[in-house]
Parts: sequence; structure tokens; C-alpha cells
Amino acid sequence: MSLVYLNGQFLSADKACISPDDRGYYFADGVYEVIKYYKGHPFCMDDHLARLQNSLASVRINFNSLAEIEVICNRLIVNNGLQSEYAGIYLQITRGVAPRIHRFPPKSITPSVYIRSFVMPVSLNELVNGIRVITREDIRWLRCNIKSISLLPNTLLFQEAVDEDAGECFLIRDGMYTEASHSNIMAVMNGMVYTHPDSNLILSGITKKAVIRICRVAGINMVEKPIKASETGNFEECFITGTGSEIMPVVSIDNKPVGNGLPGRVTRQLQKELFRITYQELAGEEIYSIFADS
Ligand code: PMP
Repeated sequence: MSLVYLNGQFLSADKACISPDDRGYYFADGVYEVIKYYKGHPFCMDDHLARLQNSLASVRINFNSLAEIEVICNRLIVNNGLQSEYAGIYLQITRGVAPRIHRFPPKSITPSVYIRSFVMPVSLNELVNGIRVITREDIRWLRCNIKSISLLPNTLLFQEAVDEDAGECFLIRDGMYTEASHSNIMAVMNGMVYTHPDSNLILSGITKKAVIRICRVAGINMVEKPIKASETGNFEECFITGTGSEIMPVVSIDNKPVGNGLPGRVTRQLQKELFRITYQELAGEEIYSIFADS
């Protein structure tokens, strides 16, 4: 049975219990992070902690023990025997346990903290061959920059993709692609990589930020500018970015092929560079040979 962290204690997952009066349960009143560990080494831990701090501040949850979080995450990875695996950390902080009234509970109520680790298998087939996606109206709220646990719209939208055998659901607001149900969107047009700028309409992805850094170093033209849905037919390439998705090629959108229907050259270059940083530098694995010659 794996070990989890709950409110100051490490305990077996089957012993972890929370009160039904937790505000996370009543109101989805909490925030979260997912961090990937490459054989014991976290990817961009500082960026994840900074985003967590922003999310907490945005929803006015007073949590003063951020410094301990990294130590707890590392301990879970080690104690659950995940140091030589590709693994993830799920971390959730809610406002705490209080009777169900809308206003915030008294300051004496402490936030509830839950952290667990899990194996995060590499989706090799999809990373190589890409995924199909569908598009839907972005029906979410206007504070998508907060990594809130309130994800019902995201789950409903993603399920629509699953129902159509697709791998993601792209979201469109006012004629522009914002992001996808659980990843950021990037498209290549005239050799330039486009992605939505950070704003209240999207989550500021840690992987997005890493891809922007890679583009800068590799001299790949990139701009953070909203992509019009009406430009979809002009996409030479398209991909999503995310902690779990990494850089995942998108080969069709609403059943119409992107470019020639195969993962593109820029996408491959970015995948190789990201995988050099993660699988090679962090985990000490050779870059997957499939990417070496494609
Ligand atoms: N947008 C949404 C809505 C997401 O849920 C995620 C994944 N957490 C992302 C973007 C990608 O963010 P990251 O690269 O930090 O995983």
C-alpha cells in the first residue's frame, strides 16, 4: 500500500481520511499541482511551487509551509520506491474543514493538505504518432490562471473527447483557441510557433514556459498571441504541452488532418530538446531512438 501525506502525517493510503465538511468537498475550494519526477528528479519544481503560491494567494488561502512541500514530495517518491520510475506527485490544498457556509471560515481553521505519488507511464505511442483532438466552446470561468480543483467543466469537455475516441478537447472562446481541457495548445504557421499569452483565460503551463525557453535557445520563432479558430486550416503543425502530455503532436482537429496528418518537423525538434532535458539530463536515459531519426 502506498504512503501518502495528509495534514502533517505520512500514512498508508487506505488509512487516509478527510472530513465530509472539508470545503474542498463542498465547494471545490482549493488548489492543486501535478509535478513529474524523472527517475527521482523533479522537473521545474521551483516553477510549480511559485505557481502554487500564486494560486493560493489568488483564492486567499493562508498557507505558510510552502518550504516543506518539496521535502514531503521527495520523501513520498523515495518511500514509495519511485526513484527509478517516471512518476508524478499530486498535491492539493483546500481551505480546510468548516460547516457549510459560503463565507470563509475563521482564521483559526487550517488548510487541508493532501499529497500522493503515482507512476506516470510514458505514452510512447502517442508521443511518436500524435493524437486526434476535438474542439468545443470554452465554457469555463474567467479565472483559468488559478489552478483550482474545480474542474467539472474540464472533465465534461474531456469526456466528450473520450466519447469520440480523441485524445484532447481544444477550447474556443470568442473565436480564439484558449487552451485544451488539461494542456496548453501550440500551432505552427509559416514556421512560427503560436500559443495563447498568459492571462486569466488559460493556465500558465510550466511545460509551455519550458517550450518557450527552448524556442529562444534553439532560435525557433515563437510568439505568444491568440490563435484564431478560423486559422485551423493554416496550421502546418500543432501540439499540446503539459506535465503529463509533455510535447504531444496533434495530427487531426475535428477529423481534419493538420498539415500532412503526421507530426511535424518543429514539433519533433522541440520534443527532442525537451526529452534531452528531462529523460536524458534528469533521468540519465538515452533520448528515445525513435526520435533520433524521425
Ligand atoms: N492547462 C490546463 C487547463 C491544465 O490542466 C494543464 C495541466 N495541469 C495545463 C494547461 C498544462 O500545465 P503544465 O504544463 O503546468 O502541466
